[in-house]
Amino acid sequence: MSHAAVEFRNVDLRYFTLKQETEALRHVNLSIMPGEFISIVGPSGCGKSTLLSLISGMLKPTGGSVMIEGEQVSGTSPKVGYMLQHDHLFEWRDVLSNLLVGAEIRKMDMARAREKALMLLERYGLGGFAKHNPGQLSGGMRQRVALIRTLVAEPDILLLDEPFSALDYQTRLTLADEVHSIIKDQGKTAILVTHDISEAICMADRVMVMSKRPSTISSIYPMRFDEGEQLAPWKKREAGRYAAYFNTIWRELEGHVVSTG
Ligand code: ADP
Repeated sequence: MSHAAVEFRNVDLRYFTLKQETEALRHVNLSIMPGEFISIVGPSGCGKSTLLSLISGMLKPTGGSVMIEGEQVSGTSPKVGYMLQHDHLFEWRDVLSNLLVGAEIRKMDMARAREKALMLLERYGLGGFAKHNPGQLSGGMRQRVALIRTLVAEPDILLLDEPFSALDYQTRLTLADEVHSIIKDQGKTAILVTHDISEAICMADRVMVMSKRPSTISSIYPMRFDEGEQLAPWKKREAGRYAAYFNTIWRELEGHVVSTG
């Protein structure tokens, strides 16, 4: 029997500090299939990053359980990789040695990691940049290097926490296309947190909307475009159904924000 890549079973998460208790997530249930791309949108502070931290094993649920490939998450795992808003590349290391940082830390087979890094650079249009320093690359190229660094560690699941939000609009659109095609090409399961409804729609197979805190999943919308699931993100912006998806999700989000008061 094949398992869900990620499953939440009635997950609660409360933060406790000396002064207060914050109920971030309440009774979250979800199931993400291997190879699926999920976008998560929701009001600011509702618990989107918290949800990713639970998948990565950096946080433990206060109720319920989080499963990866049928096993309960009990700590961080090499099965899960992160792509963040900031690329966190080391400026004093060249691109190739940046790509090998994770492999070094995890004491992986370095010859294999190096071969994989070079293959991925070549495949995704950065073959000539192995010996460049990050400072010589554009913002979009740096984020592609950051994604490749994550892929070198061979995770099954990629968590993308606002990975494009520090970039200008044009770069953001192009990079979203590139990242989408790399992730699909690699057959990875991906979970993207974004404030950008348009990005959420264009990147994902399903868009999850979260309610205000204590947050739960208020809706899950499958994104079905006439021409099929593998349409490039920019093409989806032009598709007939795009506006209807955008309006539905925007209205739902507005409802959550307004009712926050
Ligand atoms: P989002 O990513 O949707 O903006 P977060 O997951 O970052 O939301 O946070 C959800 C809620 O939990 C917020 O109210 C936030 O203030 C609170 N929170 C997040 N991290 C902590 C923490 N380490 N300790 C206490 N409260 C936290």
